[in-house]
Amino acid sequence: MANHESREAFLGRALGHVIDGEIVRPTDAVIFESIDPSTGGAIARLPTADGPLIDAAVASGRNAFERASRKLDGFARSRLLWRLADTIRRHKSLFQAIESLDNGKPFSKAGYDVDGAIAHFEYYAGIAATLEGRHIPVSAGREVIARREPLGVVGLIVPWNFPLMMAAWKIAPALACGNACILKPAEQTPLSAILLAECAIEAGWPRGMLNVIQGGPETGARLCRHMGVDKIGFTGSTAVGRSVMAAAAESNLKKVSLELGGKSPNIIFEDADWRRVRVSLPWSAFYNAGQECTLGSRVYVHRSLYDNVCALLTDSARTLTLGSGSEDKDLGPLVSADQRDRVAEYLALARLEGDVIAGGHILQRPGYFVEPTVVVGAADDARITQEEVFGPLVSIYPFDEEEEVVTRANHSIYGLASAVWTQDFSRAHRVARALEAGTVWINGYDQFSPSVPFGGYKQSGFGREMGQSAVSLYTQEKSIWMLT
Ligand code: NAD
Repeated sequence: MANHESREAFLGRALGHVIDGEIVRPTDAVIFESIDPSTGGAIARLPTADGPLIDAAVASGRNAFERASRKLDGFARSRLLWRLADTIRRHKSLFQAIESLDNGKPFSKAGYDVDGAIAHFEYYAGIAATLEGRHIPVSAGREVIARREPLGVVGLIVPWNFPLMMAAWKIAPALACGNACILKPAEQTPLSAILLAECAIEAGWPRGMLNVIQGGPETGARLCRHMGVDKIGFTGSTAVGRSVMAAAAESNLKKVSLELGGKSPNIIFEDADWRRVRVSLPWSAFYNAGQECTLGSRVYVHRSLYDNVCALLTDSARTLTLGSGSEDKDLGPLVSADQRDRVAEYLALARLEGDVIAGGHILQRPGYFVEPTVVVGAADDARITQEEVFGPLVSIYPFDEEEEVVTRANHSIYGLASAVWTQDFSRAHRVARALEAGTVWINGYDQFSPSVPFGGYKQSGFGREMGQSAVSLYTQEKSIWMLT
């Protein structure tokens, strides 16, 4: 990658898979297009990885793992991760431009994603240098060292809503622990993965430690079934998560970790600090055009504040601005025509199951824009309450009692995130403990840090990414017995 490469120069290159540090573009590959969701026009044409291509990526990863990775101690991996973070930072403007164009998200928000990815590589640089095992004194004459060893070749499958960030959540700990990675980005947003693999080479990572294969569900499914892959780290929908597990079970019993969907409750008690609620609530309901796994899509509000919350969200839905990534408005389009059509079905359902008090329409303009939408009056068992929409749609529900709202909030197959707004310290902790979710925010929403574990309860998945927890996703323990 050239220094200061422009977006146009990048898009003008022959783009494809990245294997052994080289862009690979087989002449006989089935081609798919990456679409600019702001216009519906094609921005790049990419090859789909078929069986032989995936075999080549896995062989390259295995070779890198067995020859190069074993020679890199924790300090060396730490240095390489720091360099990777610095390299991404150096190319930040290109990453930001490409991510914003490919996904449609506002330019400034794409910048937050690049900063978040850099922070992940920096955090795991620290982890790489400090990875330790355990010493277990068993009994007289018997001692055990439990070593943490890498898994080998790991397949990492990510969705399109935060393409670079989701990749960083997986690649940073996987490399820190010494694994070779095969990243499959979503077919809707294939571009930033190419840049990331090129940055890894520029930073000095051995070739084959980060390969990228392009393609859609069939490519992902083949990776999951591959006998040479030791683990799949998957982020995506709960439905596909099930098939990832099935593929792992039917092939080589590879390890699996799953970050899946959500339908997160955002609970506002009568004593909430309204000034803070007012700032947070519109973003927790509509950020990233609602294409966010932690979206606070079920707002439970104490009856005394119900009208205020309805007015706040209605007003936000009407005043948040929409535009293409480069226009850098509040919200971008949905990522694809399919996603827009899926959300359109939920907008129709919302009219049947409740009352739409703001938004509710697809915008009649090029691209896949949907109005931020507010629904009231839906029942707890309504599909609009239970199913993940993955679009800018929020439902509001009044409640009266603490115990009641906890039961209703937990009435979901999902358990990814949740929030509690109250100035009563005891109640905040009581409710936080009672909520069935991997994350609870008290008096805030969507707070993330590379150092804090993140993952799901129930059908939102299992395994914790981020923080020290991710080490257990990318290592296995070996107990070495020493009989003296
Ligand atoms: P998706 O499950 O359709 O696709 C995700 C990825 O899986 C893509 O790369 C896709 O090509 C691949 N894939 C599709 N079918 C596959 C198969 N059979 N085998 C292997 N791979 C396959 O999800 P999406 O629509 O891209 O993303 C939206 C979903 O992701 C939402 O449900 C959202 O909640 C979830 N998500 C979760 C988190 C989290 O951290 N929990 C974060 C972001 C998104």
